[in-house]
Amino acid sequence: MAFETRFGKLVSIRKSPWGRRYPNPVNTTINFPADKGEFGGSCNRSACLAPGANWYNHSTRKYYCRACAEWLNTDKFNKQDALDLWGHDLCTEGKHA
Ligand SMILES: [Zn+2]
Repeated sequence: MAFETRFGKLVSIRKSPWGRRYPNPVNTTINFPADKGEFGGSCNRSACLAPGANWYNHSTRKYYCRACAEWLNTDKFNKQDALDLWGHDLCTEGKHA
C-alpha cells in the first residue's frame, strides 16, 4: 500500500521529460508495421495486424488475413455492395492484378 501511494505520487507530479509544450514522444513511436495492408504483409485491420495477409479487399485496396477477410465478407451490406460493384465478394484470396 505504501509503495502504491508513493508510486502514485511520483506519477502524478512527473512531467514529460520533453516539457509541457510537446506531446509525450512515446505515443508517436507506436506505429503500424510498414507492411500493413501489403500483400503477404500484416493484416490491414489495425486491431489485427496478423502476418501473411493475402486476401485483397476491393474497397480499401488493402490486404487482410483470412479471418478478417471472411468476417468482412459475411457482412450482408458489404456482400450486396460488392456483388453490385464487382460481381464477387468484397475480399478475394490472392494477389490482385
Ligand atoms: Zn486480420
